[in-house]
Amino acid sequence: MTHIEASSSRRRLLSGGLPVPADDDKFALGGCQIGRAWLGRVPSAHGRPDVDLRRACTDETTQPSFSVPGVTAHPPRFPAPTFLGSRLVCLGLPRVAAAIGAALSSFVSHCTLTIGALVPEGHTIYRHAREHNRSLRGRVVRADSPQGRFAAGASLVDGRTLLRAEAVGKHLFHQYDGQVWLHVHLGLYGEWRTGAQPMPPARGALRLRLWTDAVWWELRGATACEVLTRPEVTAIRTRLGPDPLRRNADPDRAYARIGRSRAPIAALLMDQSVLAGVGNVYRAELLFRHGIDPYRQGQDVSAPVWAAMWDDLVALMRDGVRRGQIVTSRPPYRRRSRVFVYRRAGEPCLVCGTTVRTQTLLARNLFWCPVCQAATGSADESGNAAW
Ligand SMILES: [Zn+2]
Repeated sequence: MTHIEASSSRRRLLSGGLPVPADDDKFALGGCQIGRAWLGRVPSAHGRPDVDLRRACTDETTQPSFSVPGVTAHPPRFPAPTFLGSRLVCLGLPRVAAAIGAALSSFVSHCTLTIGALVPEGHTIYRHAREHNRSLRGRVVRADSPQGRFAAGASLVDGRTLLRAEAVGKHLFHQYDGQVWLHVHLGLYGEWRTGAQPMPPARGALRLRLWTDAVWWELRGATACEVLTRPEVTAIRTRLGPDPLRRNADPDRAYARIGRSRAPIAALLMDQSVLAGVGNVYRAELLFRHGIDPYRQGQDVSAPVWAAMWDDLVALMRDGVRRGQIVTSRPPYRRRSRVFVYRRAGEPCLVCGTTVRTQTLLARNLFWCPVCQAATGSADESGNAAW
């Protein structure tokens, strides 16, 4: 298990001194922080809805997990007192849990719990767009910005009819009547929440609320939330590479960049101007599935290999839209983990048993198997997915 500290200022950038993820790979909860977590604040600090946090805890069979309200988790591998603490919080005794956690914090510091901060990749934004179309399209939408930071923008949207919502890569666009466009990029910490009316009272750093008579949506923590003109929307879209989730996407456009680049393929896959919508999980898993060393230069990825990778990516991301989560391992490996290498550093490769490696590339963590994805020799030049 990877240990990380929850003490840096980056991890405490949200109010209340709560830990927040520094990137999408790890997020530490330990001791009293578990107590605080179930006060209901970590899920929002985490930048994801509660349900995803639960899923991150319970689906990751290769990581320890713990009990959360309404979810039966795997047996915890961390000390019972911490587990007890989270139980107490479930029972509505968060202060007792926090006190126990604080008292035991030195004891439990060695068992820091690592869970995933699920940074939205393209499939998640696509789902948001679909849900916005279902609930808001063709309706007059009310908007405000309780936090005030987007007050001017919200007033431009308020009272307009949503013509359509659309995802392009990790960008979400709303087109309203009167040539008003709303652009949202969730970044690392952004999240949408929704529910049926009545709308809950505004709490916390609530950037944007959208609502109709029937539903409400809340947006927090987004990197970008702005009203744009059509040319500005076009400018953003033009600089994005092809999005595997869009039917008219052209993989050759991506290969025109990849095939003549000396940058590592792992960096190119994450470059949104090369390929739109791919994040750290799909990147790691795609490279594993095709037996490609993440440091192989783009120019050394042949056209047939890229064609196979693209087809695989399209299938994987569509599957992600359908499931609402990323599943990339295949039976029989899926019984052990839903991913092959992502966030499995230090653990045995599901296929060959070699220890999965991790390294930072452009401030994001890479994960790969040095044998299945050997630097030379083992790649299947036909490009067929090996696993
Ligand atoms: Zn392997």
